[in-house]
Amino acid sequence: MPAGIGTLFLVSTPIGNLEDMPPRAVRILAEADLVAAEDTRRTGILMQHFGIRNRLESYHDYNKERTGPRLIQRLLNGESIAVVSDAGTPGISDPAFNLVRSAAENRIPVVPIPGPTAAIAALSVSGLPTDRFVFEGFLPAKKGRRTRLGELTKESRTLILYESPHRLIRTLQDLLETLGDRPASVSRELTKKFEETVRGRISELIAFFSGRRILGEFVLIIHGHLDREQKS
Ligand code: SAM
Repeated sequence: MPAGIGTLFLVSTPIGNLEDMPPRAVRILAEADLVAAEDTRRTGILMQHFGIRNRLESYHDYNKERTGPRLIQRLLNGESIAVVSDAGTPGISDPAFNLVRSAAENRIPVVPIPGPTAAIAALSVSGLPTDRFVFEGFLPAKKGRRTRLGELTKESRTLILYESPHRLIRTLQDLLETLGDRPASVSRELTKKFEETVRGRISELIAFFSGRRILGEFVLIIHGHLDREQKS
């Protein structure tokens, strides 16, 4: 076992296309003492694809209270841990955040291995202003949804939202109702076979997706609050 305190590596992985795997991520996944994954089966397949053999343990929303302190203890004992989420950058709308916070509180070094994240990929192709933006993650499904939407009405920065396929239309309708018919874009299945980005007013996006089978993973990008001058 290595001497001193260990390092927590936040290892980014592809959001679809395996060619987007950062080479440094491959090395860290192989060299760490342990890989903590949101879904060990999925990460196991990824590691196998890249010929990586290492110890895998699960760290997800349902066991983070129990597993988090154990992982912190191992780091304090000198082990290095690579944390991986299902896809993209760990900690961005997934449970790695809690582990990072505990590591920081314990003065454990936390090192990012940067790579893909769906939010930034979608923003970059949206055609909407990218100089100032706000990442909102998933809107609450029920409790607090209206309040959160209300808070966004005067937000002038570009909004980035994650959404599941079965709530896409409802969320677009709620956004139309609260924010008005703003320019927006919807990116689906980024880096994958059925990748597409649809741009238009929110009402046009609703018309586009209504009546279709809505499948895949989605990011919504919405123009920030437009003042009177910008609207005309
Ligand atoms: N940590 C991830 C990241 O860095 O993007 C996000 C994890 S979050 C639990 C999963 C959500 O990210 C999906 O529901 C979807 O909104 C978005 N997402 C992930 N992969 C995507 C892709 N290939 N295309 C579009 N959206 C994607």
